[in-house]
Amino acid sequence: MKFRFPIIIIDEDWRADSASGLGIRALGKALEDEGQEVIGGFTYSDVSMVANQAARASAFIVSIDDEEITEELSDNDAVDELRTLIRETRRRNEDIPIFLFGETKTARHIPSDILKELHGFIHMFEDTPEFVARYIIREANAYLNGVAPPFFKALVHYANDGSYSWHCPGHSGGVAFLKSPVGQMFHQFFGENMLRADVCNSVDELGQLLDHTGPVAASENNAARIFQADHLFFVTNGTSTSNKVVWHANVGSNDVVLVDRNCHKSVLHSIVMTGTIPIFLRPTRNHLGIIGPIPRDSFEPEFIQRQIEANPLVQNKTVQPQVMTITQSTYDGVLYNVETIKKTMGNYVENLHFDEAWVPHAVFHKFYHEFHAIGENRPRSENAIIYSTQSTHKVLAGLSQASQILVQDSNNRKLDQYRFNEAFLMHTSTSPQYAIIASCDVAAAMMEPPGGTALVEESIFEALEFRRAMRKVDAEYGDDWWFSVWGPKDLGENGIGRREDWFLRSNDKWHGFGKLAANFNMLDPIKATLVTPGMDINGRFAAQGIPAAIVTKYLTEHGVVVEKTGLYSFFIMFTIGITKGRWNTMLTELQQFKTDYDANRPLWRVMPNFVNTYPQYERVGLKDLAQKIHEAYRQHDVARVTTEMYLSAMEPVMRPSDAFECLAHRQVDRVAIDDLIGRVTTMLVTPYPPGIPLLIPGERFNQSIVEYLQFARSFNARFPGFDTDVHGLFTDTSNGQDEYFVDCVANKFVPG
Ligand SMILES: *Cc1c(COP(=O)(O)O)cnc(C)c1O
Repeated sequence: MKFRFPIIIIDEDWRADSASGLGIRALGKALEDEGQEVIGGFTYSDVSMVANQAARASAFIVSIDDEEITEELSDNDAVDELRTLIRETRRRNEDIPIFLFGETKTARHIPSDILKELHGFIHMFEDTPEFVARYIIREANAYLNGVAPPFFKALVHYANDGSYSWHCPGHSGGVAFLKSPVGQMFHQFFGENMLRADVCNSVDELGQLLDHTGPVAASENNAARIFQADHLFFVTNGTSTSNKVVWHANVGSNDVVLVDRNCHKSVLHSIVMTGTIPIFLRPTRNHLGIIGPIPRDSFEPEFIQRQIEANPLVQNKTVQPQVMTITQSTYDGVLYNVETIKKTMGNYVENLHFDEAWVPHAVFHKFYHEFHAIGENRPRSENAIIYSTQSTHKVLAGLSQASQILVQDSNNRKLDQYRFNEAFLMHTSTSPQYAIIASCDVAAAMMEPPGGTALVEESIFEALEFRRAMRKVDAEYGDDWWFSVWGPKDLGENGIGRREDWFLRSNDKWHGFGKLAANFNMLDPIKATLVTPGMDINGRFAAQGIPAAIVTKYLTEHGVVVEKTGLYSFFIMFTIGITKGRWNTMLTELQQFKTDYDANRPLWRVMPNFVNTYPQYERVGLKDLAQKIHEAYRQHDVARVTTEMYLSAMEPVMRPSDAFECLAHRQVDRVAIDDLIGRVTTMLVTPYPPGIPLLIPGERFNQSIVEYLQFARSFNARFPGFDTDVHGLFTDTSNGQDEYFVDCVANKFVPG
């Protein structure tokens, strides 16, 4: 496999009849004769575009000849342009070779800050073009050889090798697919390389993920260095699995654990799997349904001690919790100051686990300093080992399921890797997907500073530009309605602004979380919650409203898919894959929505696919439908109902693992939702949106949860297609309408 990385030539004279033009063209031809692809014709005016090419070129050749300087630019201008080009390139890429090309100029004319970034100074007519071409190609190849990280490099080598395999997978490097038409389609779609690189773990030269050996181990070490962790393990089944590994390595039956109530369900699964007793830390919420921080006061041993005393499941009231798991960031992008938490909790809980599924980027930019778990210049805790679990695939360039576990040892205790790996093995397939391992490897290598820092800076910058553009549109509409983006007032005029502006302060109105501790939380600007008209931050309904579900359904129809939808808000994210084109499309689609909404266009025109599935809306106007849903929300006061439901006291009756086991032992009743009050669930009950578990196995249904489920039932009956989906509910349609049930612990198995 030969990678395609052209050499890029920047020269005003590329097409000129001058001596300099002849010279550079001769060099271009000599490079091509050696089999090297060349792209010429860029000029100094393309500087920023050229710098952007640093990701796909193997070298730059930049002409600084007299002609450009006398005719186009003054001497100083030429040097400035050159400096900008080099600075912009080096901001992203420290290593790509850059050559200067000239005849009359010598090193004496070029300032040393530029010279030190160069790989050579070519005087065309002193050597033959062939000689110079070979020299450049050698440098370009040396550069490319250093680009691939260890595992990816070994995998490419293995796939290129073309050896016949007698081991699994059974498709034998893709050959099996060629034996049937549908297999042929699959092969053509995914391509030869993906299939040749799909190997099993009996290939020694690639190392083992399960024992962390060979190139896999080299890559994990490389990633540990890049992410500034003491230990780093690649995980090929998502952060869902990373969380379970961290838990199984550290806790067992009846241990008390501290858990963010708004955690990912994999953490709740961990509770069930390990037989632990959870003490929940409760985040604030505003009425838009945006989840705020767990208050700073909750991170105090005395506070936790009171929760332990109040919890009927904990027998020994003097226990110390074994692990604390915090969702960092929250689902709406709120981050915690980890150093503050380490200070108050580090001597109390031995394992501080930050579920950083959404923030693998934070370590690469000082914007986030201290507001993520592990990184540069972060003091060790005296006693607590710090864990971070990150979904490489969510914000960075990993394939789905690419995840990693990062560990920072404490001063008094180092991670015992040998023991930790037993838990790793328990949750890892013995046939890990090598393309995912390679993507963990590559995603890490991509983030190596300065490139990674530049990528994160770009995401923050584009996120701010989007926010600024949204405000500009709002200002232009004057009193007319427009969407807002949840966040601080001050965005700065340009660039990435000041990070302090993103801190959540007690006296600020915008966040709606009331009183907050200073310097404890910040909002990650790359997570943007868009707010639709209809409800204010205090939960008051306006006369007119546009529920977010109708906006996101409209956007989906126009090829824009959002991350998460709430009542009057939806969430989008500026990953390192973001481009200007993408967010500009979002903005224009929102304007399109406004036009169609204001004109009350019928759904058959503006959402034809949706109407195909739900013909009952065919002739309904977009505005009328939005208003109907809005009124249904208002009539049921859903903002209050959902807030109360999430803030209501959850009564733990059984250990989650005991309640869950009742399913296997068939000690369950299937209970209709109207009869749920007082019953103990065996299921996780999770409404979508927002996808945050409401009740966990072993807890009792209360009035406000049942009220919400009844609302969901009547709403779903009235507005098919806009359903509030509640996972954990069993739906029976056999009587012609939807009836909902929950599998609860049969009463005689409920203790007490
Ligand atoms: C997505 C997510 C996970 C699970 O990550 P996967 O890589 O999808 O398995 C865990 N925790 C949080 C907070 C998440 O958002």
